[in-house]
Amino acid sequence: MAMHRAQEAGIDDVGIGALFGLHDYKYEVMGLLLHALQLEKDCGVGPHTISIPRLEPALNAPAAIRPPHPVSDHDFKKLVAILRLAVPYTGIILSTRETSAIRNEVFDLGISQISAGSRTNPGGYQEDSSEGFRAAQFNLGDTRTLDEVIGDITALGHIPSFCTACYRLGRTGRDFMELAKPGLIQKFCRTNAILTFKEYLLDYASPLTRAAGDELCSRLVEETPNARTRQTISRRLAKMEGGQRDMYV
Ligand code: SF4
Repeated sequence: MAMHRAQEAGIDDVGIGALFGLHDYKYEVMGLLLHALQLEKDCGVGPHTISIPRLEPALNAPAAIRPPHPVSDHDFKKLVAILRLAVPYTGIILSTRETSAIRNEVFDLGISQISAGSRTNPGGYQEDSSEGFRAAQFNLGDTRTLDEVIGDITALGHIPSFCTACYRLGRTGRDFMELAKPGLIQKFCRTNAILTFKEYLLDYASPLTRAAGDELCSRLVEETPNARTRQTISRRLAKMEGGQRDMYV
C-alpha cells in the first residue's frame, strides 16, 4: 500500500522491488507483476523502476549468510528476462551486489540501470573510509571503479547514460507513461545518453575509456537515422567540446 499512498499524496514516480532469497523467487516475481498491474489500474501509472537485489552475506545476519530461498544465477537471469518482457516500459535496476560477469550478461536480458563504485558502509564515500568498511551492510560482488564499469559497458557496445532529463523537465507520472509505454521515450533517451556520456568522457574518464567512448559516440551519431536529430546532436557535442555542459532534451 505504501506506493499507492505515495501516489495519492502526489509522488507520481514510484519504484518497486523485492529482496530475492527470502522466499520462492517465482512467488516474488508474480508479486511484483501483480503490484505493477494494480498500480496501473488504481493510479494510472505503473512502477517507474523495478529493483531486484539478491540477498548477500552481511555481518551478524544469519539469514543473509544462508538465504532460506537462494536464487541461482540461471534463475536470476530468467527472472530478469520475464520482468523485462512483462513490464517493457519500466527501468530494471541492478546493484553492485552482483558480480561483473552477471551484470554484463543481464544487460542483454533487460537490465537498464546499474550502480557503480558503491559503498555500503555509513560514511563510505568519504576519502578515508577504511574504518567504515567494517560496518558494510552487505558484501559487494562488483568492486570495479566507475571508470572500469563505464569502460566495460562501452566495450559491450551499450551507451552508458547519465541522463536525468525526465525528472528535471517534469516528465514524470502519467506524462512519462504516455511516452514510455509506446516506446516514444527512446528518442529522448538516445540523444540524452550520447550527450551525458560525452560529458562524462570529457570531465571524468581515464584516457582509455575516453578513447573508446569517443569512438562509440561518433558511431552513434553517424547511425542516427533522422538527419535533423543527427545535426542537433553534433552541434551540441561541439558546444560541449567548447566547454558548455548540462545539455539535454
Ligand atoms: S530521457 Fe533520460 S530520464 Fe527520461 S527515460 Fe530516458 S534516460 Fe531516463
